[in-house]
Amino acid sequence: MLCNRRVFIQHSLVTTALSSSYACQRKQTIVSPNKKESLGIALVGLGNYASDLIAPALQLTKHAHLAGIVTGSPEKIPVWQEKYGIKDQNVYSYESMHQIADNDDIDVVYIIVPTGLHAKYAIIAANAGKHVWCEKPMALTVSQCQDIIDACANNKVKLSLGYRMIHEPNTQSLISYRDTKPFGEMTSVSAASCYSGGEPSGWRADKSLGGGAMYDMGVYAVNGIRYATGQDPIAVTSARHIIDRPALFKEVDETTEFQLKFQNGLLANGLTSVGKPDNHLRVDCESGWYQLSPMQAYHGVVGERSDGVKLDVFVPNQQAIQMDDDALAIINDTAVMCPGEMGQKDIRIIEAIFESAATGNSVSI
Ligand code: NAD
Repeated sequence: MLCNRRVFIQHSLVTTALSSSYACQRKQTIVSPNKKESLGIALVGLGNYASDLIAPALQLTKHAHLAGIVTGSPEKIPVWQEKYGIKDQNVYSYESMHQIADNDDIDVVYIIVPTGLHAKYAIIAANAGKHVWCEKPMALTVSQCQDIIDACANNKVKLSLGYRMIHEPNTQSLISYRDTKPFGEMTSVSAASCYSGGEPSGWRADKSLGGGAMYDMGVYAVNGIRYATGQDPIAVTSARHIIDRPALFKEVDETTEFQLKFQNGLLANGLTSVGKPDNHLRVDCESGWYQLSPMQAYHGVVGERSDGVKLDVFVPNQQAIQMDDDALAIINDTAVMCPGEMGQKDIRIIEAIFESAATGNSVSI
């Protein structure tokens, strides 16, 4: 599995090198007067995504900077301090992270641990009075999502999810078509967020921590169907899990297919897999179509329309754009682009997909 994740990561590091001023150029005079220009971010969990994507992206952001770390791996501390100039007083363990409450260098705590632990650490961060950024998928259950939302609301801090695609310009063009309707009404939607050759290990093989294709990758297809349509489905009409390599997938799903139904009768077909390659978001309409393929990758999200229009804006670093957008929402006290309720709706749908796959029934949402 990590083989293909690594390929994504390597490509991203190459594009990162090309992108030094991109994030700064994108936003112009958008910080309100007398506000902080850049927020201090503490990363919780220094695994692959934090190390290979988020920390490098924080070297490109204009409105966020890496200020602190929370880790359970003492051997990583000197490496990170040396590489990113992190002060001794901004280094925490999972047990001491609540003390971030007393640290003015840190404005935001970014949760990048296994999905099954998001709620635990997001709530500690919110109770410390810090804004919370939380990776996708938001949590394992609707109830855990609600706990995160409540903790952030009670502590009057903002909550943003790490749905990087929603900040990506080609994706934003596709989203805009739900209003401009260049080819009339939608007739069907199809989304696949997959990669091939995945071999689950660590928490990705552990159901209780959020392993399996549906939570890890399928959330992109669910979220993509929702942002393409601008609607919430009313039912999962069918879902099934497919295991092609039973020796590797004893506890978590390898491939999951599902169909979502909307109030207006529209149907969307979804697919997620860590065993087969397919990565697209396609909308068919009365008089044409448009699609992104890949719809979800660290770079190179591109698309086309049936009239020949290309969706091919070059994006050097998605994570830098995402974090600058999210930091500006805090600095200017405006609405975040990916709030907790968005993540919770996706988890509600994922829970219904699992129920449909287990029972063979259609499940109302
Ligand atoms: P990873 O396994 O590489 O890193 C996980 C980190 O959590 C490690 O540092 C590990 O030490 C730490 N951790 C703390 N408690 C743990 C426990 N009890 N068990 C296992 N690990 C524990 O995983 P990752 O790929 O970095 O993913 C982390 C999060 O980031 C997940 O929520 C994942 O969905 C998300 N993610 C998002 C994207 C994206 O594009 N937005 C990409 C990759 C991962």
